[in-house]
Amino acid sequence: MATPENKLAFDDGWQYSPAPESTDHIKVKKRYGLFIDGNFLAPEKGRYFDTINPATEEKLSRVALASEADVDKAVKAARKAYGKWSRIKPAERGKYIYRIARIMQERAREFAAIESLDGGKPIRESRDIDVPLAAAHFFYYAGWADKLEYAFPGRKVRPLGVAGQVIPWNFPLLMAAWKLAPALACGNTVVLKPAETTPLTALKLAEVVRDAGLPDGVVNIVTGAGETGAAVVGHPGVDKVAFTGSTEVGRVIMKALAGTGKKYTLELGGKAANIVFADAAIDQAVEGIVNGIFFNQGHVCCAGSRLFVQESVADEVIQKLKDRMETLIVGDPLDKNTDIGAINSARQLETIERYLAIGQEEGGTMYQSSCKVPKEGYWCRPTIFTGVSQSNRVVQEEIFGPVLAIQTFRTFDEALTKANNTPYGLSGGVWTDKGAKIFRMTQSVRAGVIWANTFNKFDPTSPFGGYKESGVGREGGLHGLDAYLRLEA
Ligand code: ADP
Repeated sequence: MATPENKLAFDDGWQYSPAPESTDHIKVKKRYGLFIDGNFLAPEKGRYFDTINPATEEKLSRVALASEADVDKAVKAARKAYGKWSRIKPAERGKYIYRIARIMQERAREFAAIESLDGGKPIRESRDIDVPLAAAHFFYYAGWADKLEYAFPGRKVRPLGVAGQVIPWNFPLLMAAWKLAPALACGNTVVLKPAETTPLTALKLAEVVRDAGLPDGVVNIVTGAGETGAAVVGHPGVDKVAFTGSTEVGRVIMKALAGTGKKYTLELGGKAANIVFADAAIDQAVEGIVNGIFFNQGHVCCAGSRLFVQESVADEVIQKLKDRMETLIVGDPLDKNTDIGAINSARQLETIERYLAIGQEEGGTMYQSSCKVPKEGYWCRPTIFTGVSQSNRVVQEEIFGPVLAIQTFRTFDEALTKANNTPYGLSGGVWTDKGAKIFRMTQSVRAGVIWANTFNKFDPTSPFGGYKESGVGREGGLHGLDAYLRLEA
């Protein structure tokens, strides 16, 4: 029997982060258990792993490593809770989810600071984007809980059962919200596994779930790495799998699910084309390019990582982009002036640096801003490659870092052909003064989301997901409900 770690978890003494003054109020516990059946439990095998601050390489906390036995316990707790959760009045279910949203708003500062500490993203982004959007997802889906019949007129709607959810490290809290909110609104219970480098905000969310008074076992959070994720996906008691992460792991998961009858959604990699026509508002487009690739250090599956600029304005755009890159501040994620924070992990930095070498070996011209970066921690200056072609690996493969591959085009058709010449199909962007071009391009680029004269804008009402190797299914909006329901005639 595992010992409940509740007392330990909450009376264990706060570890104050060693970061600057502004973070004095942030409380990160020395150790976190697994959130199963409403309690924080010690893992069966007693194993823990460190989560660190990628900006300083300092340890933040020890986090439980869930084994198959722990996952089994979590799935059983979710199954037991499903009986109750799926039967309570839908309006009541909605109230619990609203409560999660409101508590999250109350604790927004703490969530933002922990997100930046654990993941390396600039506090301005976690404060203004990640946390408010995460709360907005709970608000949005809370509203659907008692209106599901209206979402699917003439159909009977039934929840699926236990949802097993595995999320990545680039938007830890936001991805937890994307997964939990629709699942709960539809009457499912959940076992969620955060990524191993960024477990802390999901564990904070576990506290919110508990404080919101949700019945025990409705939400279970198991921490660990790939093996824990595989145990969640492969558990026979899981009825639906929702995964966001790399295309590589997505393939492994798809194989594991083949023939099991489990419903699934996979949100995988991307290599979005950001297309700038000569008639675009150039300064605005340059801001959009910067936001498209440098937002969240480029750790964004829908990042605008391939830029296509119409030849007649290419020199101007590239010069303005370089000038703008010089102004970007790379450094302390907790400083509100920072534009680009720390790379999430040593492993990810290695991957990015490997691509920087590949891009140069392939003959591309690399340009990096001249900013200073801190000595400790994991950093990458904003980087662009020019002189690359369609066959270059930095043009074809997802780098997941602040690295942009730039190509030029002459005609609309050339831009379109190049944009679609990728195994991915998650997102894209088009910059032009002409509405007709926007319509033609957005209809012809094969991608789940296409922004026009903007980039990286998210909203709970709008569906998100990919074509081709970017995944299966949609999350967000009405489509996001479909993924968590069985629709009967
Ligand atoms: P990255 O390679 O960028 O770290 P991953 O796709 O490996 O992204 O990770 C996304 C999530 O998938 C993480 O929570 C990770 O622990 C989990 N994961 C990794 N391997 C597996 C697997 N074989 N089965 C299920 N989940 C996995």
